[in-house]
Amino acid sequence: MQTQVVKITNIKGQKHMLEEAGAIIRRGGLVAFPTETVYGLGANGLDGPACKGIYAAKGRPSDNPLILHVASRHMIGAIAAEVTPLAEKLLAAFCPGPITLIMKRKPSVPDEITGGLPTVGIRMPESDVARAFIKAAGVPVAAPSANISGRPSPTTAEAVLHDLEGRVPLILDGGPCHFGVESTIVDSTGSQAVILRPGAITEEMLAEVAGEVLIDPALVGADAIPKAPGMKYKHYAPQAPLVLIEGEPEKIAPAMQGEIRRLQAEGHRVGVIASREVLDSLGPMVPPELRADYGGQGDLPAIAANLYEALRYFDDTGADRLLAEGTTSEGLGLAIMNRLRKASGFHSIQA
Ligand code: AMP
Ligand code: MG
Repeated sequence: MQTQVVKITNIKGQKHMLEEAGAIIRRGGLVAFPTETVYGLGANGLDGPACKGIYAAKGRPSDNPLILHVASRHMIGAIAAEVTPLAEKLLAAFCPGPITLIMKRKPSVPDEITGGLPTVGIRMPESDVARAFIKAAGVPVAAPSANISGRPSPTTAEAVLHDLEGRVPLILDGGPCHFGVESTIVDSTGSQAVILRPGAITEEMLAEVAGEVLIDPALVGADAIPKAPGMKYKHYAPQAPLVLIEGEPEKIAPAMQGEIRRLQAEGHRVGVIASREVLDSLGPMVPPELRADYGGQGDLPAIAANLYEALRYFDDTGADRLLAEGTTSEGLGLAIMNRLRKASGFHSIQA
């Protein structure tokens, strides 16, 4: 299969291209598309066999459910059996936006996408290209991230092409994603909001709208079984093993230098993913081609936006060990540290 990449720069002017993408979805095919979080790999969310194609293209385990993407409140009515008062509040405050709400599902939602759960994840993207595409499809679009399962999620069309060339007929290119980490997943089936996956809508933002917010215990301790089935899988992993260096910002640079020296003495080619400040402190220890600058120290929006490209960067550098600088776990830092912990297989050094 040939993969076509089409830049979308003008939604009105390129209406016919979006119509064509929508027609592929209605015919049961796959289209990769940009959102404000990461790129998605979409199929008709009401067509079970079409959704199976997503699992095949990504190599995704079949018990890991897909999120249904909608362009309007009206589309939610077609898939949710109940919109709780809590869900109403969250919809009003955050949708469209980088949040996925878990709701009870209608029988119209195929079993193929829910992994057998009685619920479904629903998201209304803020990205204009994403919503124009979903509108053109005319159906809820089931979509996980558009990467090979286990790899860092794609935040550019080039990263999608790298993973899925020959497996998908069309990639809509909307440029780099604004947030760069996947949506916050919130269980809204009860009266209290529960975060199942941290993202750009933070605990603090949710608490302002919904009162006290719970966090799925599996996100903080490694032992509990996560309520979002996908959270139990290995994820976001670069090709070389990665170790996370965490602690007070001023302690990171010395700890990083010590670990680099130790690994280099063992003969390893060490790549470093870190803030500009920490990278500057390394001097000639680490050559430019083994550095990925993820933003200024503490600049969480920039770090989130650059993180997956930084993880992917090292795949072609011959680095056989990677070190990454941790951030705070407050605010957007909770989402960043969740991805870094998983990328490292929970392997970290306290600075
Ligand atoms: P991805 O689209 O690749 O970001 O993955 C979707 C995430 O949403 C996975 O972690 C799923 O386990 C989670 N998810 C989807 N539907 C549900 C649901 N009904 N209940 C809990 N988690 C869900
Ligand atoms: Mg994913």
